[in-house]
Amino acid sequence: KAKEAGKDNYIVFDHPLNEIFAERMMIEKQLYKALELNEFELAYQPQIDLATNRISGLEALLRWKSPELGYVSPLKFIKVAEDTHQIVPLGEWVLGKACRFLRELHQKGFGHLTMSVNISVLQLLQTGFNEMVLSTLQASGLDPQDLELEITESVLLESYDQVSLKLNELKRTNFKIALDDFGTGYSSLSHLTHLPISTLKIDKSFIDLIGAESNHQATLVEQIILIGKRMSMNVIAEGVESADQLAYLREQGCDKVQGYFFSRPLPAGELEQLLLG
Ligand code: C2E
Ligand code: MG
Ligand code: MG
Ligand code: MG
Repeated sequence: KAKEAGKDNYIVFDHPLNEIFAERMMIEKQLYKALELNEFELAYQPQIDLATNRISGLEALLRWKSPELGYVSPLKFIKVAEDTHQIVPLGEWVLGKACRFLRELHQKGFGHLTMSVNISVLQLLQTGFNEMVLSTLQASGLDPQDLELEITESVLLESYDQVSLKLNELKRTNFKIALDDFGTGYSSLSHLTHLPISTLKIDKSFIDLIGAESNHQATLVEQIILIGKRMSMNVIAEGVESADQLAYLREQGCDKVQGYFFSRPLPAGELEQLLLG
């Protein structure tokens, strides 16, 4: 429903869609110059190996603090960055920054740590993406095994053949591929067998079901872990927030966990403190 806003003759729509559109426009406008203006940072969330109970890896997560808009969640701006193709330079920046930080940590004595970086399929499909990953890695003095590329399951069905081709090439160069948000997308189990996936990341929505009233729901997690194991994949649970969830995942043979129960994503300095502590 529209209402007239008196003197200026502006028509103001109180439809929520309009607000979403306006927000999107603002994000797009500010995002355009954000990289150049150094407005991005990376936060790092520890991944804990349940066999050793130690931090075995980190996931790099983008943080944007816009002077105009304040903190904007990646859930909002990544989509915009994809639509405008800004994700290409932005993703490259993320990879470079994360690799340099990992190299630093290796040199400080944490040589066992790996780094997981989220990759948009749009980036993956760029000509020269694989070469870019390799040269970024080499420039920072890391090995392909140190890096895990996270691809979100929900987008796998688009351009499946091309994605598969690229991933297989990356796999041949010894990079590890993780399937992020597993269970939320449409990729069929047969796709799993054809893609060179080394790690399944169980989506938080399933972890939330642990301890739920219905047993059927918790069993889903058990089944996902079994599928991963059968296919010789690493299985990691994301969004672990409680001791009960952790105990259940351990019991079911989940390999790794990530979540607020252990640590939120942290700025580089705090993460180093955590490692040293
Ligand atoms: P994701 O890759 O699945 O990352 C997990 C998200 O869950 C992160 O949100 C993380 O902060 C949050 N999280 C971790 N543990 C917990 C927990 O215990 N409880 C709760 N409630 N949340 C938890 P974040 O950082 O807001 O990122 C959201 C999504 O944005 C990511 O989901 C990823 O898809 C995307 N993203 C973030 N950084 C990048 C990036 O550099 N490149 C691309 N392409 N996408 C990114
Ligand atoms: Mg991820
Ligand atoms: Mg995820
Ligand atoms: Mg997610």
